[in-house]
Amino acid sequence: MTFGTVLIANRGEVALRIIRACRRLNLKTVAVYAEADRGMAYLDLADTAVCIGPGPARQSYLDSGALLLAARATGAQAIHPGYGFLSENADFAQAVADAGLTFIGPSPACIRMMGDKIRAKQAMRAHGVPCVPGSDMALPEDMAACHELGLIVGYPLIIKAAGGGGGRGMRVVRSHTQLADLLSATREEARAAFNNPDVYMERFLEHPRHIEIQVLCDAHGQAVWLGERDCSVQRRHQKLVEEAPAPGVPRAAIRQLGELCVRACLGMDYRGLGTFEFLYEDGTFAFIEMNTRMQVEHPVTEAITGRDLIADQIRVARGEPLGYTQADVAFSGHAIECRINAEQPFTGQPSPGTVSALHVPGGPGIRFDSHLTRGARVSSFYDSLTGKLIVTGRDRAQALDRMAAALAELRVDGVMVNTALHRRIVADEAFRAGGVSIHYLDSLLCEPATADPACEPSTALQEAG
Ligand code: ADP
Repeated sequence: MTFGTVLIANRGEVALRIIRACRRLNLKTVAVYAEADRGMAYLDLADTAVCIGPGPARQSYLDSGALLLAARATGAQAIHPGYGFLSENADFAQAVADAGLTFIGPSPACIRMMGDKIRAKQAMRAHGVPCVPGSDMALPEDMAACHELGLIVGYPLIIKAAGGGGGRGMRVVRSHTQLADLLSATREEARAAFNNPDVYMERFLEHPRHIEIQVLCDAHGQAVWLGERDCSVQRRHQKLVEEAPAPGVPRAAIRQLGELCVRACLGMDYRGLGTFEFLYEDGTFAFIEMNTRMQVEHPVTEAITGRDLIADQIRVARGEPLGYTQADVAFSGHAIECRINAEQPFTGQPSPGTVSALHVPGGPGIRFDSHLTRGARVSSFYDSLTGKLIVTGRDRAQALDRMAAALAELRVDGVMVNTALHRRIVADEAFRAGGVSIHYLDSLLCEPATADPACEPSTALQEAG
């Protein structure tokens, strides 16, 4: 289990984040890159950099054969998958183990179970974690039986693909007359996009917040929860702003939820970092899914706990005990993260190109995690996330002020980034008041003040009618 060299099966800001954690632990690193990322500055910070294929992710960052070959050629003994790409692919985790290497993450069995949202909900119910009411099983082919289930769950309901992810494979059904059509459309999408035709239904919550619990478990029966994050500011079900703690949520309720998550982890023999995602409406939490990997938004948790989550993740993968207990976890201050994406701020249209100038904000409580440098290429092959601006304050008001100042200072030329949208959010009264729902950003973008001609009501959930 012990290892001295880690291959990072990822790119960009997360690859750099993992290089930094490995350096802290005196581990050597192997960075892999696709042709499109050749010459990127962060690659120089790794001990070795290896080209694994052409630009398209399928032929490089998603090519498990090429990654394992690179590990063998460089003598790496462990693979860190980061987030996205192969990070939640149970077959890849198994292939890494079969090659005699350590996969920095949970067991393939845990990844497989949580990757099937129906099985994940069943497991959560068995461990006493509250879930969104729903069918809790794959919907049968028999339409009459589906109608019956629909009546039990109640309208509006949402049909979701068991293997769905990235905000895709979901449809809202407002009345029973729409059920047959939307069910078959979601099934078709599930089959084509996720290679798993299973779909299920659950109650559609109208104005929930997205609040998630961070957990970390070692291989020796120690597990802790590290607070919550409020990720309700979303566009097309992709998070844009995250913060910790969640404003206005009773601490006792969070503590109770955290303890339930830890109990579920111990029951599942879970190891590593994990995130339990919940919808929160009318004072009630309901589980939607678990992510079995590090999250993009982990820095806000680091900011209020003082932990290095990625170093801890690697340590427990190496078989070390966690080294602290729940009693040692203390929370202080307030942290906010804005995802800096290379895109048109108000439409989300990607903006690939080459960075011609860059000015990074600084000062007390300001952190910018990014692989960008002058001359860096932002490729259309990959996700548009180019950096994360994270600020910490003694309280939310100070964090908001620091974020406003940092956003005003951040300058990226050559590609368009979404700072103007973040400035608008941070200045907005509803956001400043705290506790906005997952529909907040859609309504903000459709306000006349935005004067965005492309503005349309949300189609993200492909709502019918
Ligand atoms: P994915 O794996 O694609 O991210 P999730 O199950 O995590 O899918 O859901 C993504 C987002 O979709 C949630 O953050 C929330 O905004 C919305 N959503 C999911 N389930 C429901 C529901 N039952 N009611 C209302 N919104 C939902």
